[in-house]
Amino acid sequence: MSTDVMVASATLDIEKIRKDFPILERKVYGKPLVYFDNGATAQKPWAVIKGIEDYYTQLNSNVHRGVHHLSQQATDAYEASRRKIQAFLNAKHEHEVIYTKGTTDAINLVAYSYGKQFVKAGDTVIISAMEHHSNIVPWQIMCEDRGAQLKVIPINDKGELQMDAFAQLLHDRVKLISVAYVSNTLGTINPVKEIIELAHQYKIPVFLDAAQAVQHIPIDVQELDVDFLVFSGHKIYGPTGIGILYGKEALLNQMPPYQGGGSMIKQVTFEKTTYHDLPFRFEAGTPNIEACINLGTAIDYVTNIGLPAIQQYEHELLEYLTEQLLAIDKLRIIGTAAEKSGVVSFIVEGVHPYDVGVLLDKLGIAVRTGHHCTQPLMEFFGIPGTVRVSLAFYNTKAEIDQLAAGITRAVNMLT
Ligand code: PLP
Repeated sequence: MSTDVMVASATLDIEKIRKDFPILERKVYGKPLVYFDNGATAQKPWAVIKGIEDYYTQLNSNVHRGVHHLSQQATDAYEASRRKIQAFLNAKHEHEVIYTKGTTDAINLVAYSYGKQFVKAGDTVIISAMEHHSNIVPWQIMCEDRGAQLKVIPINDKGELQMDAFAQLLHDRVKLISVAYVSNTLGTINPVKEIIELAHQYKIPVFLDAAQAVQHIPIDVQELDVDFLVFSGHKIYGPTGIGILYGKEALLNQMPPYQGGGSMIKQVTFEKTTYHDLPFRFEAGTPNIEACINLGTAIDYVTNIGLPAIQQYEHELLEYLTEQLLAIDKLRIIGTAAEKSGVVSFIVEGVHPYDVGVLLDKLGIAVRTGHHCTQPLMEFFGIPGTVRVSLAFYNTKAEIDQLAAGITRAVNMLT
């Protein structure tokens, strides 16, 4: 860890940061809210909430359509936000940043469009055993449609990818590899750089589901040399209904449109339509304008605090959380990879995860229970589900103490 990062972390003022998130002041069942479901969706700072209000009170109009003042201002803000996202990811071109409805929408876009262009009968697409259903089902649908096979990189008992087995899966009929940067259930940080380098030796493009990564780890798409990368706005303190597809220009330019409609065309006649250039070719219809603009606001907010400092602080929280949970009798952590981000899943011997979740809820503590949209992963571990604690930089060690006390109480009551 560099000295710069250590200094930045030491200067994070969590109490001040918490005041930026009004929802953290509310009570649940008369108790202060303790929010540990950040992997599902993160809370929003005032900057984003006010940004949405400002949009509707000052700017509301359609983008790329009107000659009038409001439409021009809205369009400027919409495109300025795209440039912020470009800078955040260090994409080479702003037109490599495409607005989508979210991670799921972006994966479906690529599965459909890339699949149509590049995947033929007998080809292979590779995913991993720890994927979210969003990064399984669209590829499954596409493979079925194209007559291709879906292969799965296996994992070990700690929840790490088996890289030797991965290398064995590579051959020249593999048309794409799609893996999570960070597992939403296990918190495993996958060795994405290594995956990309290996895949590129076979000229196979790599698609990263960064839904659980962008808010925790600084990402440079050019340095990674990743071909596609997607994430959701709502998990990085931005609005819902907005996500990003980053794709290399050369690939996106070869891909057919995913949806037809307004904004994505150059010329329409009843005989033939010609399509717009990137990024608009993949942005049919009126977008979620206030969300596109305020994803930029959320990214400004995160960038101002500094992702390296966030990463350092969340890592301290993760270590503390893991320590506290391991001290609880009958509790087993699922997902013990060497490299982890701020997610801890666990089960308590003899207790259903749902019951733990309900008891914690009564204490004002929000966690997620269930299969976390990773049913094949649950099958691998032979469990029905887990309790998942997912961290954000506004969480504190005091909240982790409350959580540990709550779980201990639940274990005593239920076993
Ligand atoms: N991929 C991962 C790893 C996720 O954690 C999630 C959501 O939890 C998704 C994909 C789907 O994201 P969204 O529902 O925002 O489209």
